[in-house]
Amino acid sequence: MGLVTQVFRDSDLAALPGHIAIGHTRYSTMGSSKRANAQPILARGQNIELALGHNGNVINALELREDLVRDWGSKFAGTTDSEVIAELYANAPGETWADRSAHCMRRLRGAYSLVMATKSELIGVRDPLGVRPLCLGKLDGGWVIASESCALDHVGAKFVRELEPGETVVVDGTGLHSTVWSGARKTHAMCIFEHIYFARPDSILSGQLAYKTRMSMGAQLYRQHPAKADLVIGVPDSALAAAVGYSQASGIPYGDGLVKNRYVGRTFIQPDQRMRELGVKLKFNALPQVLEGKSVVVVDDSIVRGTTTPRVLKLVREAGAKEVHMRVCAPPIIAPCHFGVDMGSVNELIAARKTVEEIRQYIGADTLGFLDVPGLLKAVGVDDGSYCRGCFTGSYPIPVQLEMDKLQLEKNVAGARHDPAGNELPAMT
Ligand code: SF4
Repeated sequence: MGLVTQVFRDSDLAALPGHIAIGHTRYSTMGSSKRANAQPILARGQNIELALGHNGNVINALELREDLVRDWGSKFAGTTDSEVIAELYANAPGETWADRSAHCMRRLRGAYSLVMATKSELIGVRDPLGVRPLCLGKLDGGWVIASESCALDHVGAKFVRELEPGETVVVDGTGLHSTVWSGARKTHAMCIFEHIYFARPDSILSGQLAYKTRMSMGAQLYRQHPAKADLVIGVPDSALAAAVGYSQASGIPYGDGLVKNRYVGRTFIQPDQRMRELGVKLKFNALPQVLEGKSVVVVDDSIVRGTTTPRVLKLVREAGAKEVHMRVCAPPIIAPCHFGVDMGSVNELIAARKTVEEIRQYIGADTLGFLDVPGLLKAVGVDDGSYCRGCFTGSYPIPVQLEMDKLQLEKNVAGARHDPAGNELPAMT
């Protein structure tokens, strides 16, 4: 449990034998944060033994878990959807990974980008909607699979391509083999929030560098919500590219008015509201030398609960800004995410409870402008039915229950309970 650098020493890694490895650094969006839910997860099924790492969220995990217990006598140590996927794959009928994926993809509903390892194979799977990213790279004659292409750059691997929705790739002693499940969508329903916030700016998503897409969002924000100002700043780091785009489109100079403290973690992994509030102060510092007496456009990626933004704007004002014009890349978030982004329940989403004018007053901005959904799609470069945008519209690529409960397996599985000592679940601010 903990950050990679806190958990693994070089000597731990050097002691691992073998030529196939998988790792996992995602916080949980289903099941509490406790050791039994840490990944990769090992599963021993009727047919195979595998280790699995998962990004996403499966919405019918409870039902599948009950089926696995009844049909195969599966035993579960934790309370995540990821363990259900591991058990499902380990017990799936079929001689090939294409057969197993077809069996699993027919049953799983939701988002899952997977890496799996057996003793002789490395496997990558992207769900039939393609909600979460997954990409393939090449390194010294071997293959690398990662959520984001920036991870390939760090290990010196060459980006080859993104996996298709419904694709399974298998690397074994004879090379790389790929199949796409026949039931997969022709157009993907990838999470548009990956473009806005999640992906690192140096990652390639849907064939585009995230940094460039964010610059386009900033330019589009200016077209939809122009402001008269002396300076454009971005909330570091995820909104900097959009702020550059706003500056270039408007001709208003760009500056660094906020500095991010690089020695603290991201606020959205802080465990509770009190810590999240403290976290903003620890996270940013404003530069009076840059902001004093200026009318400032502040660009951010999103406003989810509305915890962070008022504090950031307060810092900007305290540093001497005379006007603050807030511009936000994500449209108002009115509905929760069911596919792996922890935004909390609908009651916690500020735009589900307040109008834009009420949010403006609440955050303390002189003006406030959000990109709308058509503007966002235009900036990303799509105008058709691809991309999930459910949190902005309440309409999802597959039917979902209105409220999602991250602890549903803990509440509904006999014998399982929420770990009182575990960190409470992380959430976006
Ligand atoms: S609901 Fe929003 S955050 Fe969740 S997958 Fe869809 S676009 Fe992404």
